[in-house]
Amino acid sequence: MAFPVTRLRRLRRTAELRNMVAETRLTPDSFVYPMFVCPGEGVRKEVRSMPGVFNLSVDEAVKEAQEAHALGVPSIILFGLPDKKDEVATGAWAENGIVQQATRAIKREVPELVVMGDVCLCEYMSHGHCGIVKATPAPQSLGAAARDSVIVVRDDEEKEKALEKLAAAARVAQASFEIVNDASLELLARTSVSLAKAGIDVIAPSDMMDGRVAAIRKGLDDAGFINTPILSYAAKFASGFYGPFREAADSAPQFGDRRSYQMDGANIREAMREIEADVEEGADMIMVKPAMPYLDVIAAARERFDLPLAAYQVSGEYAMIEAAARNGWIERERVMMESLLSIRRAGASMILTYYAKDAARVLG
Ligand SMILES: [Zn+2]
Repeated sequence: MAFPVTRLRRLRRTAELRNMVAETRLTPDSFVYPMFVCPGEGVRKEVRSMPGVFNLSVDEAVKEAQEAHALGVPSIILFGLPDKKDEVATGAWAENGIVQQATRAIKREVPELVVMGDVCLCEYMSHGHCGIVKATPAPQSLGAAARDSVIVVRDDEEKEKALEKLAAAARVAQASFEIVNDASLELLARTSVSLAKAGIDVIAPSDMMDGRVAAIRKGLDDAGFINTPILSYAAKFASGFYGPFREAADSAPQFGDRRSYQMDGANIREAMREIEADVEEGADMIMVKPAMPYLDVIAAARERFDLPLAAYQVSGEYAMIEAAARNGWIERERVMMESLLSIRRAGASMILTYYAKDAARVLG
């Protein structure tokens, strides 16, 4: 039945009518609030590129968790900023690690809050990568390249040439490393068990190593945590939208980038394979990250898999909205709610978002 019998505008006339026929609804129940925990006491340091988001010491994190819970947000996810970093990510799995401390404190004060623990190594590794780094045999070692580069510098032109040659040698040496997959699994499993012991309710691995869900499941089961669910960052794309997070979590890689383990933004079929692998390995819930640039991946995952599906509205998505709103170019609240609605409409049942508290206030 076409126009003039059909007039779609009939149901858009009033707010009540529009609300009645709304196909997608947002509720705070679907929000997970990410928090960054740092050492110290009374610390509440705003992240420069994420206004309204803070590095919080454990005592402040407890207050923040209480506030989120009071607003109806059922869950938080914790990231840690350790006081020391090393080559084996000790801070990730130490009994007294920063996230372990925060978890114990938060679960003591707000036991009903579902506390998720992000499991990765980058925040705790001195090099900032998500796994163990091994140097690989280079076409030419840095030492050999440097030896070959020794030039008697007689004038500025020769000096220029020598510097160029040294820079080239450094580039070769830097390209010769590998993020070792299988050796990293043990540390990820160890981190997961440590977090579960501290009281983390949901283990959320974000590293993108192959086989990590199986390794973590086995680690948890062997340690007696058979009832601790895994929410895997199953399709996590190498994305420029993570920029502000790296400042928030102090986790930028010191060399290279994460493209050898995180997914290529061009691939949706591969994303389905990644998710499938995690489901087979025992993931209880799956996640797509980032959210807004990958809404099609969320929709495809919703279509294909029956597990609870989460999406992470990442730091860059948040920062863009905040920056534009601060300039008066968009209406902050309207765009915030629209962005969350779009993620929900694409099919995510849970949304990890820095807007959890603000959006819960709007909905409350
Ligand atoms: Zn990582």
